Formats: sequence, structure tokens, C-alpha cells
Amino acid sequence: MKSVYLDYNATTPVDPRVLERMLPYFTEKFGNASSNTHAYGWAAAEAVEQAREKTASLLGCSKDEIYFTSGSTEGINLALKGIFENYSEKGKHIISYQTEHKAVLDTLEYLKTNGAEISLLPVHRDGTIDLELLKNTLRKDTLMVAAMYANNETGVVFPAKEIGEICHRQEVFYFSDTTQAIGKLPLSVKDDNIDACVISAHKIYGPKGTGAVYFSRKKPRLSVAPQIHGGGHEKGLRSGTLNVPGIVALGEACTIAEQDLLTSAMSQSRLRTLLEQSLTVSGNVFINGSIKDRLCNTTNLMFKGIKSEDIIKKIRPVAVAAGSACTSAMQQPSHVLKAMGLSEEESYSSVRFSLGRFTTEEDINFTIEKVKNILSNH
Ligand code: PLP
Repeated sequence: MKSVYLDYNATTPVDPRVLERMLPYFTEKFGNASSNTHAYGWAAAEAVEQAREKTASLLGCSKDEIYFTSGSTEGINLALKGIFENYSEKGKHIISYQTEHKAVLDTLEYLKTNGAEISLLPVHRDGTIDLELLKNTLRKDTLMVAAMYANNETGVVFPAKEIGEICHRQEVFYFSDTTQAIGKLPLSVKDDNIDACVISAHKIYGPKGTGAVYFSRKKPRLSVAPQIHGGGHEKGLRSGTLNVPGIVALGEACTIAEQDLLTSAMSQSRLRTLLEQSLTVSGNVFINGSIKDRLCNTTNLMFKGIKSEDIIKKIRPVAVAAGSACTSAMQQPSHVLKAMGLSEEESYSSVRFSLGRFTTEEDINFTIEKVKNILSNH
């Protein structure tokens, strides 16, 4: 039976080219990148450094600003806790947004127990932000702004460059959760004034459990307190034997994302328009979030009067999500949609469709037909 995967924001399949590149590092090239006494170790270390260069190239930074991690949750913990720990004399005030991913929100909640003062700013009805409010919330003791690049549930994109400018004018650090933006839009940490950001391989057609964090080394030169100790890997910032196959895969996934970016974005955007136009004509389906400032692949649709649970069940084998995969286990209405002012009922009627590299027009037409069936029987 045909199945269609439209949940690329939750995770992506490993691209066959990525798999092919990583496989030898499980078997004949299995060395430990820290073994500097033999060829096995040298080969692994060289592969890691190549991957570091490829990751840096996609982010627009230099390779010595990249540190490998197990994914974005770890990177977010390292950035937020590590910056707070090293600079808490500079200030204990952190500004963030109500629509951030739980990995950011929960880490900030934890930092409160260490004396951090958090201002969680609201968003507009369409999920976008008010830059004046950000400026007015900055204080003398503001240490950092943590503002995601693109939202995982709605795809809404924040104005990174402007946020960065506001931060830098007051010597405030700018951390951006770039997990969902990377590979979907052209992004350069230097042009966007980002001081720290994270990347997760499984969102860009690499394997789960591998990722990286970027910390600026110039203007500002960020110094971050390690959160995992032992062995001194990654210049002492993130100890633990390097996941060489995962890192090689991340590097390859970054190179492909860089080459593929524009064609892939155009194709996904075209297919998303087809999906949205075909479904919203009914008059009972609405798009949650800004149409202008949005990722090319995501649409969060509200089906008035129909429970998302019912839609998800009835359109199977089309795989979609209600809210984010990370919070859906909690059976609570999405905190993102709530922050955008949707009622609980509207939130429970919302479904996220996220397209990806392997989505075809046939997939979208199949999905449209399935959803239309529900709409016409309702
Ligand atoms: N931040 C955002 C915006 C995400 O979408 C996700 C994953 O869903 C994460 C962070 C966590 O990433 P990871 O699965 O690599 O820990």
C-alpha cells in the first residue's frame, strides 16, 4: 500500500549518498579520532576535520567555530548553560520567546534555578515578533537573546539579522536555534549576526544522534563552559569519543544541503502551495502562521470543527503531525499555537504537514484527495 511521509520537520530519512559516505567508518575505517599513534586514528581524525569544514561551509563560518555534539538538544544545553555559567557576572537576564522549542524553554527554566531571570516574549497572532518589544525589553544586565531562526511547528521565520543587530548594539549575545532553518533557506551566521547556533543531522537527511554547535570566535569571541567533562575532546568543550560515522554523515549532509538548497526549496514551496490552495478553497481550512515569513516546506493547517486526531487517523497512510513530535506525547495543546492566540479547540484542530527532499507531486495529490474526502463527509 502507498504511504506518504509529510513529517520531515520531525525527522528526515538518511539520504542514500550520506549513508554510502558514512558506512566505511563503521567497518574498515573504524578508528578512534583521538588515536594519534596509528593510521586508523589518523584516517578517522582526517574525516572528522573534513566534516567540520563542510559543516562550517553550510553555516558560513570557519571550521574552528564548529564543535560536534549528539544533536540540537545537547547543543542548546551547551550554549545556554555554558554561556550563562561563564558570563553570569556580566548579567543574569535572558530574553527568549514563548514559541521556542522545549529544548530551549526547559533549559531556560532550569537556568532560573541558578539565578537566571528570563523574559519570555509573546508573538503576534501570525507567529512573528515585535522588534520594538525586543528593544524595550533589553536591560543593562541582559546577557543573551535566545530566538529561534524558524519555528518547527509553523515554519515561521524570525528576522535573524535584525535581532542580531539589536543584540550587538548593546553587546548582548545572540543564540539562534537554527535546527529547522538549516538546509531550507540560505543562512549565514556571520551575515545574520548570530553568535551561537545549533544543527542536527537528522533534520537534514543525516542520522539521528549527531549534530554540531557553532560558537563565534571573533566579534564576539565566545567562551563557553563545557557541560560534559572527561577526555578533553573538541578542544575541551565537549568530551566523549567522537561519533565518527555520524560526524562524517553530518558533513556529507551539509554539502548536499548546500548544493541542493535552491532547487529543493523551490520544489517544496511549489508543492506546498498546491496542497494549501487545494485545501483552503473549502473555506473551513486556515493556515496558522505568517504566509510571508515562512519556511518553504511547512504548513500548519487548522481544520475548523474537525479534531486533528480524526484527520491524522483518517488520512493514514499519510504521515503528518499534530503540533510538534517532541510535545505530542504530552497530549497537551501546542504551546506554539497557544502563544499565537489560538483557542484550545483551534489548536486541537491543527495539523502540521512538512514536506521534504523526496516529496513528489503524486504524494501531494494523494494527500489532497484523502483530506478532501474527510472535508466532504464532514
Ligand atoms: N530545536 C528545534 C527547533 C527542533 O525542531 C528540534 C527537534 O525537533 C530540536 C531543537 C531538538 O533537536 P534534536 O532532535 O537534534 O535534539
